[in-house]
Amino acid sequence: METLENLHDRIDSFLRDIHMDKMLKISSSDTKFLLIDFSELDKYDFELADHLIDNAEEVIKAFDEVLESFGIFGEAIRARFTNLPASYHFTIRDLRSTQLGNMIVLEGIIRQASEVRPEVMKTSWECPVCGNEIVQFQTGFTLEKPKECVCGNRKGFILKNQDFSDVQKINIEENPERLQGNEQPARLNIILRHDLVDPSFQKRVSPGNLVRVIGMLKETPIKGKDSKTYDIYLEANYIDPLMFDFEEIAISMEDEEKIKDVASADPWKSIVVSIAPSIYGYEKIKEAIALQLFGGIRKKRPDGIWTRGDMHVLLIGDPGAGKSQLLKYVSELAPKSRYVSGKGASAVGLTASVVKDEFLSGWTLEAGALVLANGGIVCIDEMDKISRDDVFALHEAMEQQSITIAKANIFATLKSETSILAAANPKYGRFDLNAPIAEQISMPETILSRFDLIFPVKDIPTPEKDEKLAEHILRLHKTPEAAKPLIERQFMKKYIAYSKKYVKPKLSDEALDAIKEFFVSLRAKYAGEASVPISPRQLEALVRMTEASARLRLSPLATKEDAEKAIDLLRYTLFQLAYDAETGKLDIDRLEGGTPASKRSKIRIIIDIIQELEKSEGKQVPRIKIIDMAMEREMSVDDADKILDSLRMKGHIIEPKQGYVERVD
Ligand code: ADP
Ligand code: MG
Repeated sequence: METLENLHDRIDSFLRDIHMDKMLKISSSDTKFLLIDFSELDKYDFELADHLIDNAEEVIKAFDEVLESFGIFGEAIRARFTNLPASYHFTIRDLRSTQLGNMIVLEGIIRQASEVRPEVMKTSWECPVCGNEIVQFQTGFTLEKPKECVCGNRKGFILKNQDFSDVQKINIEENPERLQGNEQPARLNIILRHDLVDPSFQKRVSPGNLVRVIGMLKETPIKGKDSKTYDIYLEANYIDPLMFDFEEIAISMEDEEKIKDVASADPWKSIVVSIAPSIYGYEKIKEAIALQLFGGIRKKRPDGIWTRGDMHVLLIGDPGAGKSQLLKYVSELAPKSRYVSGKGASAVGLTASVVKDEFLSGWTLEAGALVLANGGIVCIDEMDKISRDDVFALHEAMEQQSITIAKANIFATLKSETSILAAANPKYGRFDLNAPIAEQISMPETILSRFDLIFPVKDIPTPEKDEKLAEHILRLHKTPEAAKPLIERQFMKKYIAYSKKYVKPKLSDEALDAIKEFFVSLRAKYAGEASVPISPRQLEALVRMTEASARLRLSPLATKEDAEKAIDLLRYTLFQLAYDAETGKLDIDRLEGGTPASKRSKIRIIIDIIQELEKSEGKQVPRIKIIDMAMEREMSVDDADKILDSLRMKGHIIEPKQGYVERVD
């Protein structure tokens, strides 16, 4: 290690000359650190500044010692540094052993934050031979004993006293906006000590936050003491909170001009056709996604309750209909977005969880996709397969847009102002437009009702459509460029970021009137009836969609036309899902479960029969009785047999013994 002459003196004069006022202020306040602008140090004494970068531990320690020597502070205060030049900024994936011991700057999203634990900082030992007391500072991860006493003894030291300090571990991951294509974000552990774990700092290290961390890169053996390979971690010196605010997406003057050009032409058309052009059809779904990309305005009511601006959209339907592809596309199109599969093996998943932490052997709070994508869209594929715990947390995440967790010793509320685009497969293979959704999908009605729009995705063969679909898919195999979007992805991201940042539309009176009229007239037809086609939840959905439509045009005012787009989409989904052909009315209960519809699919009939028979027969129901009852309800023996077989193949029923069936769920 190089040495710098008169290190303490140089620090002393820098602090006296530049920071005297600040230090005096600190001495009469609760602040426990002196924040030093690196550029000021560099200007004052560039050799000292360079030395700090290369020998961070030594120099920071010297700073702390000099601060203590002034004797003006009640308790020890520490030197903390900020504003390091860009040349010391690194990305996690680029860190190498040459940076070990150096002062560096990193940026990332906080994924995990452990509980704060006490840690031994200073120990004193007694020599068993001469009784001398030896002080040993603890800087590593394991307790270090003194090596030798002044009397020459090297063993048997007795621990007399230990001083504790606090320590916390956080784990950050690279900001996905900075990654290329499908790169997985790299992660790094960061250790916080002393005043960095004070309550005033804890706000900065909440999972989901974007931060800039200044610290020194250190190593720790991967396995045990004698390991040859090491893990790296950062010993934090200071944490700067960064607002996401879409600033990460750089928008140049040129971009801004182009954004305004697009907005002044026909942005609705060009944006809708630029969403997943490789997927054929689904115009209405793409329109809904276009609105979702922009979202409505989050508002605080006078009583302090927030209403969300983010829209949630659900696609339910037949397998192989292109849902997953569509979701993947959107996750790459929208700023700050992520794709997760409900089936995914990840234990942490969607919301947040408390997990065991090996590094500090305690508990740590780990943020899931909905927290990490705060401000963006999370595309949840196979949503019907997500874990039970996540389903519970989803209720809060979808409406209040926060996630509260209380497990082990950890209590926290994390922000998740995140929009959800989800896809789900129906329980019984194919989606049945005639049966209520809630019966066909393994998801509580309370979750279903939180979606602004629910689209059935039906793969119904029609020769005309099939020819076009086949042509479309085959053409893409021949010439993939054919699906080049009108507005390319990178620019679309900028357009969305710009709009979300600057455009906060207000609803015009005409827009409000149009929404009100639609709502009132639809409900009027059902006056006095128990089931109405739309509920106040959908009224809020209409407001969000109307605002989103204005935002898409970069307009500060949401007009009647914006409201009409919203109404059109809601009406479309209602008629797809809730229209009862027999009564000629919309039936919201089809959408949200409740009373069964008048017409039922054969699968439903069989399941109902089994449930009915359970009452008299117990859990195991004779197959022959099911078939008898099916015949009474005008189903052929053949059909009933086939359906029972297919239910068994799919695992919805089992055959506990010959001639009997038992339902599984
Ligand atoms: P799902 O998730 O609905 O089960 P996928 O997204 O996995 O279906 O789609 C299966 C395959 O079929 C994909 O390769 C997809 O590109 C193709 N596909 C299905 N529907 C369409 C469509 N409308 N346009 C283009 N490709 C489609
Ligand atoms: Mg799929």
